[in-house]
Amino acid sequence: MKIVKRVLKFIAIVLGLLIISIVIILLIDKQNTNYLKVEKNESNTYLITNVNIIPMTQDTVLTNKMVYIKDGIIKKVGDSIEIQNVAIIDAKNKYLTPGLIDMHVHLWDKYELGLYLSNGVTAIRNLWGMPMHLRLKEDINNEEIISPMFFTTGPKLTGPEFIGDDNLQLVRPNEAKEKVISYKNRGYDFIKTYYGLTKDIFDAVVEQAKISDMDIVAHPSQKVPYSYHFNPQIKSIEHVEDIIQQPLNYKLDTLKLKEVINDFAKSKHSSFSPTLTVYNNIYQMLIDDKILASEQLQLMNPLIKKVDSKAQFEKWYNTKLRDSSIVKAIKNQHDFHLKIIKKLNEAGVTIICGTDAGIGITIPGFSIHQELAFYKEAGLSNYEVLKTATVNASKTHSIMNKMGTIEVGKVANLILVDNNPLLDLSALQNPTTVFIKGIKLNRETLVDFEKRARNRKNLIASAIRYVENLIIEK
Ligand SMILES: [Zn+2]
Repeated sequence: MKIVKRVLKFIAIVLGLLIISIVIILLIDKQNTNYLKVEKNESNTYLITNVNIIPMTQDTVLTNKMVYIKDGIIKKVGDSIEIQNVAIIDAKNKYLTPGLIDMHVHLWDKYELGLYLSNGVTAIRNLWGMPMHLRLKEDINNEEIISPMFFTTGPKLTGPEFIGDDNLQLVRPNEAKEKVISYKNRGYDFIKTYYGLTKDIFDAVVEQAKISDMDIVAHPSQKVPYSYHFNPQIKSIEHVEDIIQQPLNYKLDTLKLKEVINDFAKSKHSSFSPTLTVYNNIYQMLIDDKILASEQLQLMNPLIKKVDSKAQFEKWYNTKLRDSSIVKAIKNQHDFHLKIIKKLNEAGVTIICGTDAGIGITIPGFSIHQELAFYKEAGLSNYEVLKTATVNASKTHSIMNKMGTIEVGKVANLILVDNNPLLDLSALQNPTTVFIKGIKLNRETLVDFEKRARNRKNLIASAIRYVENLIIEK
């Protein structure tokens, strides 16, 4: 008996120490990201003068205007606005556009919020929800931390087959319905369906999502036909490569593509988020054997860098060793992706900018400029490109409607840049000022956000949050 007691005591002590260590590690991580704390008395009321506005309601620049922002909301836009006792921001020769929206990200820590802001991204849609994202949403909504507006799906829903511990396996249709209800109650914004979802379970998810008024974001499932995703409840379909992998059956088949695009254009319910950057990054890994040691990679979350970036790099490196023709094949497919984007756009499909930032070697914030440059290369006009990351994104979900254009009544999520992005999209990089719910961040602050994210040491804290997800969501 004495031995049993001793063993139990030992276990209790070890568990106690473990819990204390976890709490301390998480508190230190929180402390280290305190630079994102919203200061008390932070002003979000002022008048911007002499500014050139790109409203994104039409392809135009409104020159030399004034914008009155009160309590973080755009109250007036005009040639001359008379307001007494208000701070003035003189924006002579500068251009004001809506903040950018990245519709496909995976967020791992608060440092990444600063990276999005420094790149002019004022809203993100996280597509792999975990309990940490619900806590983050609360902090953001209570205006405790400065952050892009944050929307998140629940965990990725897949079918009975095991396809990785990062997915929630569903076996019975009823279980699927219960999950949709519970995600709604817990505060997730959308449902994410994933590639192994079988028809009966997919049907149950769609049925319940409709009843629960939850939009679905679909990573296409290859267990159902591609056209099955053209459903009014599915507001967004992800990843251009899935068009090639599914309806085109891994062939760069232009004729078959025409059919798919016609079906897509007819459906009208769903936007399309191409995530060209994450696919092109396979090519970047194949042509640069030193990419993991690059400057940019220092901005990745350390857990992802250690696990995912490394694993992806090695997978493609080894593939290349076995068969060097892969390099050309990936490049050809990327080039074909550009053609698909052009045709989808011509057919009237709503394209929304999504990068898949946060996984592999796709850097949060910075990758949005790469994604936009690809749309331009595909043949979209600068205005059409900018729409994908502003008004198109905000139209996709009703809960995102209050952003994406510069109009009275919209949230003041704005960026101020030195040159006209409708002439040159690279003007959107390094904005001089970012306004997030009217709170003004100057270039100095934004550069500091980047500096603090570089080579951060929160590997264990990130791992704890990942394990928490496995315990709670499984
Ligand atoms: Zn993704």
